[in-house]
Amino acid sequence: MQRIYLDANATTPVLPEIVDAMRPFWSESFGNPSSAHHSGQRTRAAVEDARTSVARLLNGTPREVVFTSGGTESDNLALFGILQPYLDRREPAHLITSQIEHHAVLYAAHFLQARGIEVTYLAPNADGVIDPSALEAALRPHTKLVSIMLANNETGVIQPVGKLARIAKAFSPSILVHTDAVQAAAKLPIDVSGELKNVDLLAISGHKMYAPQGTGILFVRKGVQLTPLFHGGPHERQRRAGTENVPGIVALGCASELALRWLSSEAPDDLRALTIRLEDGLSTAVPDTHINGSTLHRTPNTTNLRFDGVDAESLLIALDMQGISASFGAACQSGATEPSHVLLAMGLTPTAARSSLRLSLSRLTTAAEIDHALAIIPAAVARLRSASL
Ligand code: PLP
Repeated sequence: MQRIYLDANATTPVLPEIVDAMRPFWSESFGNPSSAHHSGQRTRAAVEDARTSVARLLNGTPREVVFTSGGTESDNLALFGILQPYLDRREPAHLITSQIEHHAVLYAAHFLQARGIEVTYLAPNADGVIDPSALEAALRPHTKLVSIMLANNETGVIQPVGKLARIAKAFSPSILVHTDAVQAAAKLPIDVSGELKNVDLLAISGHKMYAPQGTGILFVRKGVQLTPLFHGGPHERQRRAGTENVPGIVALGCASELALRWLSSEAPDDLRALTIRLEDGLSTAVPDTHINGSTLHRTPNTTNLRFDGVDAESLLIALDMQGISASFGAACQSGATEPSHVLLAMGLTPTAARSSLRLSLSRLTTAAEIDHALAIIPAAVARLRSASL
């Protein structure tokens, strides 16, 4: 059976070029980058080369790149790194985030809230976009951090983070701004010296950009003081203790170089065209299909579709049996019966949210695979609908 992977927002395969780049760093060049001897210096050079590549992807400087174990750690390092000191100081502190964040931000915010940090969770509009006027209304004299994601993992909707950051800084230059860019990196250009110049912290995960799981990056703008999550050695300029994951870091560097090349080619337009072909094909072939979220500002690879009267969990199982891997939201929610918090926040009813399916394409998805999916999905939806009559 042909298997078609339409769940790239959950994870991506590691590209062969990236596997090749990593390979020498397990058994040949295995030194600890903190060691002064030749073996250590070789891996140190590889780590610093990777840092330069990541900095190029973001248009930042290498010193601003902190390597972590993934998107979750990067988000936690940003939120706790800024707000933890206020837990001890008994000084009022306010965090503004949104209802549509990934749980890596949302649950970190809940934890901080339970320890006394005031938290405002901005609601999106029906298109899944955080309205800048909502941020304007929420800012307080004691607001310390604003954390709004760059692109949503479930809908692909892009948030106006550049504008939100400008609003926060205009209110008070001391407010720091974090963005979870896990679903935006390597899909959209990111410029921390241009549109995102008011963003102080930016999280990326390796396994959403063709590097391995368990690798990540936090961009920390020069001058931002961060309290580390881990205590130990002076790695990563005192911001993240622990011996570096050298093969993983090399992979992030290589993934950044490949992403830069990909972004400057026609490939993002081609990927968007494939996503739209899938979306249009399904909307035409399946009656009562709706697109969740804005189609104007979206990552090129994601569509979130609602099939009225269909239980998405049953649909996912049916599709999996026919070789199609999809999802109904965040991968870590799979198996959970709770409807998507993102779709609920956008105003969908629990039933509508439970009828929604996320299809996310990768750089490797082909037109033939989309056509095959278009031959399978409408029939699967029709079967489920007739079974529930
Ligand atoms: N943020 C977003 C938007 C995500 O989609 C994910 C993963 O799905 C994460 C954070 C967590 O990243 P990681 O799996 O690398 O911990």
